[in-house]
Amino acid sequence: MKNKLKRMTTSLLPVASNRRGECNRCGQCCKLPFPCPFLRYDEEGLSSCAVYHFRPPSCRKYPRTAAENLTPATCSYYFVPAEELVTADGNL
Ligand code: SF4
Repeated sequence: MKNKLKRMTTSLLPVASNRRGECNRCGQCCKLPFPCPFLRYDEEGLSSCAVYHFRPPSCRKYPRTAAENLTPATCSYYFVPAEELVTADGNL
């Protein structure tokens, strides 16, 4: 529950610029700390949100930072270490 409150509070902040990847629809973040009533699964076991276009920022931005990723075993988003971030001109 503490992590849920933290997610809600920090969800107004931007998503970390070092986040990469895309959602694999595992649905694990929709069960924190208990299954969301809007969580649905299709016949292939892929999750979806019954109120997707109206979902709150804490869902929209999950996982916002590496520290806030509470489902690293299944979540397909990942975070590039700062030392590996380079711009097109080769600078950090
Ligand atoms: S845990 Fe990550 S990959 Fe799984 S549904 Fe949530 S955002 Fe998508």
